[in-house]
Amino acid sequence: SGKWAKAEAILRELEDECWASTSKLRQVADAMAEEMHAGLASDGGSKLKMLISYIDKLPKGDENGVFYALDLGGTNFRVMRVQLGGKEGVINKESDQVSIPPHLMVGSSHELFDFIAAALAKFIAKEGEDFNLPHGRKRELGFTFSFPVRQLSLASGTLIKWTKGFFIEDAVGQDIVEELKKAMERVGLDMSVTALINDTVGTLARGKYNNPNVIAAVILGTGTNAAYVEKIHAIPKWQGPTPKSGETVINMEWGSFRSSHLPLTEYDQSLDSESLNPGEQIFEKIISGMYLGEIVRRVLYRMAKEASFFGDTIPPNLKIPFILRTPVVSAMHHDISPDLKVVGSKLNDILEVPDSSLEMRKTIVEICDIVASRGARLAAAGIVGILKKLGRDPVKEGEKQQRSVIALDGGLFEHYTKFRNCLESALKELLGEAADNIVVELSNDGSGIGAALLAASHSQYL
Ligand code: ADP
Repeated sequence: SGKWAKAEAILRELEDECWASTSKLRQVADAMAEEMHAGLASDGGSKLKMLISYIDKLPKGDENGVFYALDLGGTNFRVMRVQLGGKEGVINKESDQVSIPPHLMVGSSHELFDFIAAALAKFIAKEGEDFNLPHGRKRELGFTFSFPVRQLSLASGTLIKWTKGFFIEDAVGQDIVEELKKAMERVGLDMSVTALINDTVGTLARGKYNNPNVIAAVILGTGTNAAYVEKIHAIPKWQGPTPKSGETVINMEWGSFRSSHLPLTEYDQSLDSESLNPGEQIFEKIISGMYLGEIVRRVLYRMAKEASFFGDTIPPNLKIPFILRTPVVSAMHHDISPDLKVVGSKLNDILEVPDSSLEMRKTIVEICDIVASRGARLAAAGIVGILKKLGRDPVKEGEKQQRSVIALDGGLFEHYTKFRNCLESALKELLGEAADNIVVELSNDGSGIGAALLAASHSQYL
């Protein structure tokens, strides 16, 4: 029928516009490498912030002792104790998760940090004798703070703005390590804050601890970001003395990357313009878990409206932004039952569409595939951009290729198998022969263990 032909036309147009061919991916990778150069040259030189982390010693894998982590990045925070046993690795770890009462997310800085310091003190108070530190030595803490921060040194940084439902006006512009330290003093907790880090940097540390060939980390979760190890002499905007290692970690904030080579559609344009941060985080908006489901919803909405895909009326729930979550897209995409019953039941549960034909279900799986594949392939192109910047992508004649490992973390990468497989095959496609020496590896819990590892590698007692 005419309606079905129209739906088919919308689907083919989507496929066409989302298709990231090998040559397009190469252009994206080149643009990423170029923007990296520009962002390293000067602050504001690129959409990529290329933030200097002040981490100049990543863990080697032989660290010893007990270290702590504090992870604040959402409605929960965690305190963690990690016991490192030299070559034996992580011997023991314990943690407490505490949810933040909503009124503290919008109250005063004093109240929030008092609450956190009290939880930390409680965690330490119940420690056994085994954790007594050598005499005269303070406990050391790595602080993962996943909000935008202008870092001033390894253990200081000012809060640029709150996100994710927090709104504590008097903390903006303040050094958040100072805020934490003052609160620790108020509760009588004597502890050093050794490093202030971002979760991507923690993932890099976590990965490198397990595997010395790790050179970069990428997070693919609700949002997306990347960090990598850079030579100081390749950072024109670096000021001050060069650290002994000659290197530092750069937090790329790659979610804000954009390029004319990105395959964008009308769905992306409207998603962006109706978002809380129009014009920003364009790469993130086509790749990450927060948005993939929403893109699929927008395609389905157009099909409902213009091709009566769901019948004469548009299912009311389909009009609700973000009602279709990425884990649901993933579940539908992985449906292998002959009648696609997972797709059918999701349509029923979420969109309240009780009857769907097999043809409709197949079309929906195809939309999921198109949207997820585009995201995965572009993430792969981003990784190749980093490898290009570091000169690790080509196979050089007569040279033994260095091994490069990328540490990956985040729910999207970990749980969305087809996304992950697509990313890995796009990497092979782009790297050719060099792919033999380049691998991606899952690296869990950078914001916890990674932070403790960075407290260890930057310990004041070394
Ligand atoms: P965050 O990025 O929020 O700190 P995670 O790394 O755990 O935390 O990522 C959670 C995100 O991962 C979710 O918002 C969701 O988009 C995505 N995700 C989780 N599970 C799945 C899944 N099964 N399939 C696809 N995406 C998933």
